[in-house]
Amino acid sequence: MNPFALVNARTIAEATRTSATVAGLMAGSGGSPASDVSIVKAGGIDLLDLMKETLLSPDRILNLREIPGLDQIAVKVDGLRIGAMATLAALAGHPFVRDHFKILAHAAAASASPQIRNVATAGGNLLQRPRCWYFRAKEFHCLKKGGDHCFADNGENRYHAVFDNDLCAIVHPSTIATVLMALGASVELVDARGMTRKVGLAEFFVSPSVDLTRENNIGNGEILTAVEVPSIRAESRCAWLKQGERDSADWPLADVAVVLDFDAEDKCARATIVLGAAAPAPRRARSAEALLVGRKIDGAVAMEAGRAALDGATPLARNSFKLPLVETLVRRAISQAAATPG
Ligand SMILES: Cc1cc2nc3c(=O)[nH]c(=O)nc-3n(C[C@H](O)[C@H](O)[C@H](O)COP(=O)(O)OP(=O)(O)OC[C@H]3O[C@@H](n4cnc5c(N)ncnc54)[C@H](O)[C@@H]3O)c2cc1C
Ligand code: SF4
Repeated sequence: MNPFALVNARTIAEATRTSATVAGLMAGSGGSPASDVSIVKAGGIDLLDLMKETLLSPDRILNLREIPGLDQIAVKVDGLRIGAMATLAALAGHPFVRDHFKILAHAAAASASPQIRNVATAGGNLLQRPRCWYFRAKEFHCLKKGGDHCFADNGENRYHAVFDNDLCAIVHPSTIATVLMALGASVELVDARGMTRKVGLAEFFVSPSVDLTRENNIGNGEILTAVEVPSIRAESRCAWLKQGERDSADWPLADVAVVLDFDAEDKCARATIVLGAAAPAPRRARSAEALLVGRKIDGAVAMEAGRAALDGATPLARNSFKLPLVETLVRRAISQAAATPG
């Protein structure tokens, strides 16, 4: 790792003076480490990994930890405002989040390990870069890093995407993103002119077909200041399920968040189903959602929806094992949500 200066930003305005995003730097570096730049650090878990892997060599790191208030989790009349610097542990342990946004607390608590959750922040988690091992190894100058080849295509692709994987088969690495997307959350971004924009997560995450080199549309000099989550409707019932190779300290092989609304006859009036670790961005399972609306949910309907969640799947040579995993998680999450008291 190269020597670097660590500078504490005291205000958001100071932080927005940083020159570039990590994605921009890595794509522009032609495969060699970028130099003479500053980059922002939240918990530093992913940033330092990239530096240790010598994929990134900034001269200055701008620490966001000292900016007052950026780690606050605030309860609002219309939902929740999660400061970008709130840690996953704070999110998982917040009494209001545990009572009123149970699936979010659950997903935060099931991410990584206790030590990592104590440091990793909500903002950094949404902005972490993918875990594809070719991407993480400097020997492989793949498409995502500006090269001309996807090594996962004919390589070791067991942990890769089963949807939207024709150009680049990463899966989105954020576990809380699956739940936040199902809850209709958005991010707040502030730029160097002090302008604020609010972007729904569905628009924030970027598919490889839109831009291969990045996973989201945060701009140069922009700081993610908060995640806003609307209140969950009284008639909504929710579930989040994850399957990993082991129970802790690892990313899911697949996860799914389900939010169902029911009418007076106990028929499904609205359904949102989001698949995690399945595609380059958290993915709405639209066919499964459509199949539920207007119907009472029983085991057979949940099973049909599980199968429908696989519509459009294009598994790679080594990851078709994910399909029954996704199908089962969707079926179980629907049944679990439907059985939750409204
Ligand atoms: C063993 C292990 C297991 C893990 N398991 C999981 C898991 O199950 N689920 C999961 O979701 N994650 C998992 N992770 C990943 C970990 O949770 C993330 O690396 C962490 O959440 C990143 O957050 P951070 O605050 O440390 O971000 P940092 O590393 O500080 O930053 C990440 C990126 O975001 C940028 N950035 C950070 N904050 C801001 C901001 N506010 N505005 C603008 N840019 C910003 C930084 O420049 C950097 O590019 C695991 C990690 C390890 C090592
Ligand atoms: S899946 Fe994406 S990140 Fe991985 S090797 Fe292929 S192009 Fe690179």
